[in-house]
Amino acid sequence: MILILGGTAEARELAAALVAAGIEVTSSLAGRVANPRLPEGAVRIGGFGGPVGLAEWLRENDVSCVVDATHPFAERITENAATACTRAGLPLLALSRPGWSERPGDRWFWADDLAAAADAIPGLGSRVLLTTGRQGLAAFAGLGHTWLLIRCVDPPEPPLPAQHKLLLDRGPYTLEGELKLIDAHGIDLIVTKDSGGEHTIAKLDAARERGLPVLIVRRPARPSVAGVATVAEALDWARAHAG
Ligand code: NAP
Repeated sequence: MILILGGTAEARELAAALVAAGIEVTSSLAGRVANPRLPEGAVRIGGFGGPVGLAEWLRENDVSCVVDATHPFAERITENAATACTRAGLPLLALSRPGWSERPGDRWFWADDLAAAADAIPGLGSRVLLTTGRQGLAAFAGLGHTWLLIRCVDPPEPPLPAQHKLLLDRGPYTLEGELKLIDAHGIDLIVTKDSGGEHTIAKLDAARERGLPVLIVRRPARPSVAGVATVAEALDWARAHAG
């Protein structure tokens, strides 16, 4: 059986491809989202209890290999997967979509993490579309004079910035929809993680069209494990390691 550490569109696509290929697969979700989009095939939800718990789970469930298809900013589970697979002597592949690349007309600024992004915001804009996700919003709580439209899937926990509006949405987003949102709220800055992929790229296209700056949080460093960028490559690898 193949374990996919999921929570991304790519993880769902890979699960569907493995099911279609007749390969036994279990997808694992953290359980952060109240109503997650469920992948095809078996699904388990919730943490494993650190790398030790994950290594145990791999042994008990007779897993032959693991694909870490988690979000590029999910640092802990990726570290845990590397440690647990080494411990269990199992092959591990990282499936990670490439980050976004600047195109002509873009006005991008980079921050090393959420705290650095919060520091940079006052110099770049005063009405912000914040799309960094529900977790880590405390980093922006001190922004007293900035208005933020916080878009995330589920309601975030406090502390939150004094001046904000919540927009609960999970996409998919379109260029037309993003332009409407920008215009309706007088947005003058977009803040995002470098998540990559097509699912949330419309905001970058919309920013270019309106000449708005985008502040992008760089990806964290990941452990050095074998990696691929596409579901097709991960499928080939999984077929070869299915046992
Ligand atoms: P994280 O900080 O790397 O992980 C924290 C803990 O959550 C892990 O130690 C693990 O608990 C549990 N966990 C995380 N992903 C898991 C999974 N796929 N299956 C089972 N347990 C998991 O993770 P995160 O940044 O909170 O992300 C959580 C999930 O949301 C991930 O699956 C990720 O793909 C998805 N996601 C994250 C982001 C983001 O920006 N971080 C964006 C979109 C989607 P134990 O130690 O108890 O095993």
